[in-house]
Amino acid sequence: MSKVAVITGGASGIGQAAALRLAQEGVNIVVVDVDEESGNAAVEKIKEHGVDAIFIKADVSKKEDVKNYVDQTVEHFGTIDYFFNNAGISGSGGYFLDTEVEEIEKIVGINLLGALYGVRYVADVMVKNGGGAIVNTSSSAGVTGQDSVVTYSATKHALVGLTKSLVAEYAKDGLRVNAIAPGPTETKMVKEFYEANPKMKENATGGIPQKRLGTPEEVAELVTFLFTSNASYVNGEVIRIDGGFTNT
Ligand code: NAD
Repeated sequence: MSKVAVITGGASGIGQAAALRLAQEGVNIVVVDVDEESGNAAVEKIKEHGVDAIFIKADVSKKEDVKNYVDQTVEHFGTIDYFFNNAGISGSGGYFLDTEVEEIEKIVGINLLGALYGVRYVADVMVKNGGGAIVNTSSSAGVTGQDSVVTYSATKHALVGLTKSLVAEYAKDGLRVNAIAPGPTETKMVKEFYEANPKMKENATGGIPQKRLGTPEEVAELVTFLFTSNASYVNGEVIRIDGGFTNT
């Protein structure tokens, strides 16, 4: 029986690359995103790999939307085997004391509450059905402190705690939960962030030992490994994929 993956933020960047890569493995895909046009376009590309795929519009910071994407997935596919808890925003960048509190609320709402709501409803399905695998998208800013992204970094560190604590509670029920910590990766989010903060781009690429940004496809390989049975004894890990960025 084909596996079923739910991917939040699946309309673009790392989420879409993971969706396409998992589809190559025969996994059926649910793309969850606020961006309906890109989400539907992603579904068409995913289906070219011969799997079933659907788009569900949802704002992950709204708990009703999250409950709805989980219910709709179960209605369509019957279960959820893999959950790529990936939707996120960087915020506009800049110093914390210049940040509007509304922006703090927005970043926390999407990156942290959205991830918590997702796990709350998805893991419930997984545990009732005998288990599953979750990958949370943290960041290099979730394993090291970085200036100009204080709120973002706080939410991404929180996902590390979420990952490890879920393993403590639910590994016995067949859940595997890992996190990825990508460094700067060539996606829409990073392009827009560096356009608004050009100095950050110089600092980031200068500080990456491999002297280039990562690609969404490189990150998708790691995500696919973590979901497949080849990673059946990998649990509670936070895996950096950053060209050495956080190791220097
Ligand atoms: P991206 O902008 O290409 O994709 C993010 C997707 O999330 C978009 O399709 C967007 O519409 C969707 N999204 C945003 N807010 C949403 C919401 N409220 N509800 C549902 N969907 C929403 O960016 P990306 O770089 O692929 O980002 C994916 C994840 O990777 C994010 O969590 C990001 O923090 C993380 N990350 C990215 C990098 C990087 O350098 N690109 C590095 C580390 C971590």
